[in-house]
Amino acid sequence: MRVLKFGGTSVGSAQRMKEVAALIKDEHKKIVVLSAMSGTTNSLVEIAGCLYKKETAKASELIAQLELKYLAEIELLYATPKYVNEAKGLIQSHFDYIRSFVIDVFTVFEEKAILAQGELLSTAMFHYFLLESGEKSVLLPALDFMRIDKDGEPDTSYIKDNLARVIAPCGDADVFITQGFICRNAFGEIDNLQRGGSDYSASIIGAAISAQEIQIWTDIDGMHNNDPRFVENTHSISELSFDEAAELAYFGAKILHPTSVLPAKLNNIPVRLLNTMQPQALGTLISSKQEKKRIAAVAAKDGITAIKIKSGRMLLAYGFLRKVFEIFESYKTPIDMISTSEVGVSVTIDDKTHLDAIINELKQFGKVDVDTDQVIVCVVGDLVSDNIGYVNRVVDCLKNIPIRMISYGGSNFNVSLLINASDKKLALNLLSDNLFKY
Ligand code: ADP
Ligand code: ASP
Ligand code: MG
Repeated sequence: MRVLKFGGTSVGSAQRMKEVAALIKDEHKKIVVLSAMSGTTNSLVEIAGCLYKKETAKASELIAQLELKYLAEIELLYATPKYVNEAKGLIQSHFDYIRSFVIDVFTVFEEKAILAQGELLSTAMFHYFLLESGEKSVLLPALDFMRIDKDGEPDTSYIKDNLARVIAPCGDADVFITQGFICRNAFGEIDNLQRGGSDYSASIIGAAISAQEIQIWTDIDGMHNNDPRFVENTHSISELSFDEAAELAYFGAKILHPTSVLPAKLNNIPVRLLNTMQPQALGTLISSKQEKKRIAAVAAKDGITAIKIKSGRMLLAYGFLRKVFEIFESYKTPIDMISTSEVGVSVTIDDKTHLDAIINELKQFGKVDVDTDQVIVCVVGDLVSDNIGYVNRVVDCLKNIPIRMISYGGSNFNVSLLINASDKKLALNLLSDNLFKY
């Protein structure tokens, strides 16, 4: 069985849904994971924002606008009044549900329930379309099998057992449709795998069923060698190793959710990144194969805060770093980069929720300096230390850009540099010019 995930743009209109239906038509059995139609999750986030602020009139207006968009799409999607009416009923029930929160108390639980509606709508609409076209399609509710534990990690054995349980009675189906992004948490409440999490859903499902292949269909022909939103003339990379892809995804290549490579890597399932708008393009194949002696790509992760702790006494004495890390651990705040010297240690974080409390606690160790608006630029490839000269090329082309931190040697695949956000675009372009254009 294969897992095919289609992102928001790929299912962003009736026309696109029809194209996806044509694309998935072959002899292979498959689970199709869908995102919400593009723009929907952003709208739902905006609606939830209004409800938090008790701006009920604005929320109601946004809900009505979004509902109209869906009502217009279904007229274009279905050929028969039967399915138009079924879909109208579906849309009404989801939007009535969203509207029910306008008069209620609004907390993070209600927000998550609202955010789940986008994927529930797109999958049901697509499933109806397949049924209307005579396909043997089965809708698998992700909320019946996708679960995270109390640390927010996928509950792999629960997912495996329950996915098998919901698939078992529908053995003769050709295609299973399910929602990306949404799940339940350890308390059984509706939750999600964070923005962009449908890629992660696909990878978790692929691992759970030991899929032959996981395909991530999006609006670009695979992983490019630099961020196409900031650099011109980037090109698709035909092959990446799991480790390279994981570094790129974690460090900002938006095409993949940050943690989506791991389940595939642990189960050695190839991941193919493909373009829905250009299905014949080869895209990128991610597998255990590591291409030697080449720099593969550059990515950048925004919204980084650097924290430097300077201490005259006992810095780098054994146990010191543990005490520092324990503070971050107690606030469940992951550290991305670290660099140390005899008199200080710098770390970076991207979750600022507990920044003030963390700084207060760190002050017991010495002077604490904080730099916000930082960006991690990450260069990924075969960067083992025997490949002399590669890191030099990276640093040399950034010689006119202030570099706040450098991290190399943590893995064989990555060198990361921390720079000001204002230098990001220039840095990405300099790296492209110097690493790929000869
Ligand atoms: P989907 O909605 O299908 O999940 P996303 O918008 O999440 O799609 O991801 C695809 C987008 O990722 C592309 O349109 C592109 O702008 C962006 N992107 C950022 N970095 C890269 C990269 N290195 N390679 C390819 N795409 C990238
Ligand atoms: N719909 C969700 C989002 O926009 C998940 C996804 O598209 O991957 O973040
Ligand atoms: Mg995405």
